[in-house]
Amino acid sequence: MAGRLLRCHWMTSLLRTHTSRSLGANRRPLSHSAVTDEDSTPRRPEVGQTESMMDIGTRAIHSEEHDIFRTSIRRFFQEEILPNQDRWDAQRYVDREVWEKMGTAGFLGVAIPAEIGGVGGDFKTSLILYEEQGYANACGTAWGIHSDIVMPYIAEYGTPEQIEKFIPAMAAGTNIGAIAMTEPGAGSDLQGIKTYAKRDGDDFILNGSKVFISNGYVADTVIVVALTKIGEGRKAHGISLFLVEKGMPGFQKGRILEKIGQKSADATELFFEDVRLPASAIVGGEAMLDRGFYHLMHQLPRERLLLTAGVQCHAEFMFEITRDYVRKRKAFGKPLSNLQTIQHRLAELKTEICVSRAFTDRCIQLFHEDSLDSATASMGKYCCMLSESLLHSLV
Ligand SMILES: Cc1cc2nc3c(=O)[nH]c(=O)nc-3n(C[C@H](O)[C@H](O)[C@H](O)COP(=O)(O)OP(=O)(O)OC[C@H]3O[C@@H](n4cnc5c(N)ncnc54)[C@H](O)[C@@H]3O)c2cc1C
Repeated sequence: MAGRLLRCHWMTSLLRTHTSRSLGANRRPLSHSAVTDEDSTPRRPEVGQTESMMDIGTRAIHSEEHDIFRTSIRRFFQEEILPNQDRWDAQRYVDREVWEKMGTAGFLGVAIPAEIGGVGGDFKTSLILYEEQGYANACGTAWGIHSDIVMPYIAEYGTPEQIEKFIPAMAAGTNIGAIAMTEPGAGSDLQGIKTYAKRDGDDFILNGSKVFISNGYVADTVIVVALTKIGEGRKAHGISLFLVEKGMPGFQKGRILEKIGQKSADATELFFEDVRLPASAIVGGEAMLDRGFYHLMHQLPRERLLLTAGVQCHAEFMFEITRDYVRKRKAFGKPLSNLQTIQHRLAELKTEICVSRAFTDRCIQLFHEDSLDSATASMGKYCCMLSESLLHSLV
């Protein structure tokens, strides 16, 4: 496992920083936006206090280690993602090779413990990937579903065999993950699903269909949410999560759906016709039969935070390109930014974004301290969606 850690660019830089510190060497000036408090203590500025909201070295919740990761991932987006983005948008999915490059660079399964095959970073580090997606305006790929939804289900609830089989391969990007909850007749109301895994001796026979599944087209492994009990009390008590693998007889992928945004993140239909699954395909094995709904609910705050982090940064990105535009664009012989109405509008937008940034970072910190509840996570998501939609009205 140590070998894998040392292959990660950003981990190597991190080790170098720690070593130079312990030797008493000069610290790298990573926080190039750092400001100083009255008592001369260097302090990380908040995003609204810097030249650009996208500057590296900001936000009190982060450290120099996070800056190292951000620098690496920002470079990766510039070199490996943006040059391909238009082509991926047109084909409506991302090439497999980039998943493997992500894995080699140590960008997949960042918050999964190293002892079981992940990278072993904290969740704040993992979120930086989605933040940088927002800053790069390349929001189209569902890395988050793979690394911070699918992998945590396996890491937290999986059997030792499942962990050993899937986690290292997913961290390497050679096994791509998806999660299939939504059905043509059941979206928000998850308990309305009809996909049914019927007991047949020691096995289960899976029948049903799913829709809008991110990574569905490229996935090697799909966590499929299915009923395992019918007609006995509340459906929530009879839902299980199954690991269904590409190539299993009866598992078919449908078309990649057309979307108005996030085009390179394929959203696909999946069909299951008499797919025979052993009990060992249940996430966590037979012991976790009928526990799926509770696992899904338990993971909600984390999943909401992924979206919040990306959307907040996308709002900051849109503010910056708008500010840049009104500074450069001239009308009546002067830049638009000289007009007081434009200045007022920018000030209003920046205020909205900074308020939502403060709440977003609070949610991230609460999650870090293991105390983010589902309702607060929803408020965070709502709050940054509001500031992003304000900017959409302007850009
Ligand atoms: C880009 C994209 C990627 C996706 N990726 C995945 C994925 O990877 N895996 C997966 O399983 N699913 C995925 N989905 C599906 C997504 O989770 C569903 O779209 C979502 O759950 C909503 O379901 P629905 O579209 O069927 O809408 P519905 O549930 O039919 O809702 C329709 C409208 O009614 C409103 N509504 C619903 N219930 C209520 C209520 N009780 N009170 C008031 N209003 C209500 C909703 O807010 C919505 O506006 C994805 C969707 C998109 C757009």
